[in-house]
Amino acid sequence: MLLILLGPPGAGKGTQAEQISEKYNLLHVSTGEILRESIKKGMPLGIKAREYIDRGELVPDKVIVGIIEERLESDGGAGGFLLDGFPRTVAQARSLDVVLERKGKSIDSVILIDVDEEELVLRLSGRRVCRDCGDGYHIKFLPPQVRNVCDRCGGELYQRDDDSIEVVKQRMHVYREQTEPLVAYYKNNNLLAKVDGAQDVEGVFRQISRLLDNLA
Ligand code: AMP
Repeated sequence: MLLILLGPPGAGKGTQAEQISEKYNLLHVSTGEILRESIKKGMPLGIKAREYIDRGELVPDKVIVGIIEERLESDGGAGGFLLDGFPRTVAQARSLDVVLERKGKSIDSVILIDVDEEELVLRLSGRRVCRDCGDGYHIKFLPPQVRNVCDRCGGELYQRDDDSIEVVKQRMHVYREQTEPLVAYYKNNNLLAKVDGAQDVEGVFRQISRLLDNLA
């Protein structure tokens, strides 16, 4: 199975991707996580990506497509792949189609998690991430048991630089301009399924699970 999670920043793609990949044995591929990991390790990819990420802009397509191509070389999870945060431009989507065609693979479904913008700003500004394992929290909607400490691994929680209000606004703008056209792109290919992302985490997960159970 090859799934894509699509949606604006703060829609809950990362949280849902964690749970879905576990339930359906998918390899969770998050381009944002891969980039943040490269930054943490001081790798050349990270150094290059950082200037874009900190401004709320997209990392160039060529760099991102290279990362995805490499990940798709692996066997994935027993159930396949879950792409989270990729593609983010029509050019990336076209490149993905080419890569998959070469491998004799195809996309099974693109799940759009839909949330309105006001709600997204509220969510992003309260978001916290574990420095060690990358788990996501929210100070109001999904607080850890102990303030600033990850429930799973005990790591320190922090606010991503790109979750500051100015950068969030820029990321929303970039989403509308560059990523939203993918909704029409995948609708035209009959791959798009829409989920109401305004529900709580469990509600969204149930809706996605129903969609995936119908695919199997
Ligand atoms: P995310 O964690 O998915 O919100 O990604 C954080 C940041 O990483 C984005 O704001 C972009 O700067 C960069 N990024 C992640 N995925 C992509 C992608 N597919 N294309 C371009 N930039 C990306």
